[in-house]
Amino acid sequence: MILILEPNTSPESPDYRTLAGQLDRLPGIQYRVHREVGAEVTLTEIYLIGNTAALTVEQMQVLPSVQKVVRVSEAYRVLGRHQQGDDRPASFDYNGVRFGQDTLNVFAGLCAVDSPESAGMMMQALQRHGQVCTRMGAYKPRTNPYAFQGFGAKCLPYVFELAGKYGIRVIAMEVTHESHVDEIRAALKSTGNPTGIMLQIGTRNTQNFELLKLVGKQQEFPVLIKRGFGITLDESLNAAEYLASEGNRKVVFGLRGMKTNMGDPHRNFVDFSHVPVVKRLTRMPVCIDPSHSVGTRAIAPDGILDIFHVVAQGVVAGANMVLVDFHPDPAKALVDGPQALLLSELPHFLEDVAVAREAYVKRAALAASHRPH
Ligand code: PEP
Ligand code: MN
Repeated sequence: MILILEPNTSPESPDYRTLAGQLDRLPGIQYRVHREVGAEVTLTEIYLIGNTAALTVEQMQVLPSVQKVVRVSEAYRVLGRHQQGDDRPASFDYNGVRFGQDTLNVFAGLCAVDSPESAGMMMQALQRHGQVCTRMGAYKPRTNPYAFQGFGAKCLPYVFELAGKYGIRVIAMEVTHESHVDEIRAALKSTGNPTGIMLQIGTRNTQNFELLKLVGKQQEFPVLIKRGFGITLDESLNAAEYLASEGNRKVVFGLRGMKTNMGDPHRNFVDFSHVPVVKRLTRMPVCIDPSHSVGTRAIAPDGILDIFHVVAQGVVAGANMVLVDFHPDPAKALVDGPQALLLSELPHFLEDVAVAREAYVKRAALAASHRPH
C-alpha cells in the first residue's frame, strides 16, 4: 500500500509527526519513505510493507497529510502500474530531456569508444541532425576475456568534453561496477559537467543485485536497465524494481532480444512485441536496442536493413527510446562493427524512425476515437 502525501509535506510538520506516530503503532507494518525533491514541489510517498491486507484504504485515507492511498499488487510496487486510480507519473526529466511513456528519444552512437576521432565524428553528425542523446561505451563486458574491454576511465574526459562541444545532453553508458559510477562522477566534475549520463545496466548484469542496489541508491543519474537475455520478463522487471526500491525511479527498461537458437538468423530473438506489455505492467519508458538484437547489417529485398525494420516495429508499437550502434568506420570498430550503421545512414535512419513514430501517434489517436465513452 502506498500513501501519497499532500505536496510539500514537511517531515518536521506536526501533521507528519502525528502520521508517523500512527504508522509506528500499526501492528505488523513497516514503512519506507520516498521523497522526490523537485524544483517546485517535493512529493512524499510512504510505502507500507507487511500485513497491509489488514488495513483499509478508507482507514488510511483519513490520516493527516495523506492525499491519496493506492493499494498495490505485490509485484513492482514502485514502478508498477497499479489499479485503483494509480495516476503517478510515467515520465521524468533529466538534463533538459524528457523520458516518458509518451516520448521518443533516439540514442545513436558508438557501441564502444575507440578513439577521440570516432567519438567526435559521431557527435558532430548527431548535432548536425538535431540529436542531443547518444550512446558511448567505455566499460565493455565481453564474452571473451581477451577481447577489447573498453578504454574505461581513460576515455571519459574527452568523451564528456566532446559531448559539451556538440550539445549532447545525455550519454547512455554501461557500468558493471560501483567504481565506474565514481569514475564517471569524477570525470564529469573535472570537465565541468558538460553533459549528462544515463547509466546502463547490460543484459549480463540484469540480476547483479548488488550492482542494482548501488545504482539504485544514487539519484543523480537515471538508469537504463536491459532485459536479461535468458530470464523471464517478470524477472527482468523485478530487477528494474530493485533500482526503484532503493530510491532511483528514473528508470528506462530496455528490450534487446532474447538468447534462443530460434533467433537465427539474428543474433538474438527480437522481442519488441513486448513494448506495449512493459508499458501496461509498469510506468517505465521502454527502450528498444535493434543493434544487439539483430546483430547484422542484413538487408531485405525491399532495400531496408533488418535493423531499420525492427526499429520501425518497436516504434510503431510505442517504444520510447532507441539505442542503436553507429560507427564512422565499422570495419575498424573494436566492438560490434558488423552491426553498426554508417554515419551516412543517420539521416535516413532518423527519417525512418519519424515515419514509424507518426504511424504510432495516428494509431493511438485511432484507438482513442474508437474507445467507448
Ligand atoms: C550494449 O548496449 O553495448 C550492450 C552490451 O548491450 P547488451 O547488454 O544488451 O548486450
Ligand atoms: Mn555492443
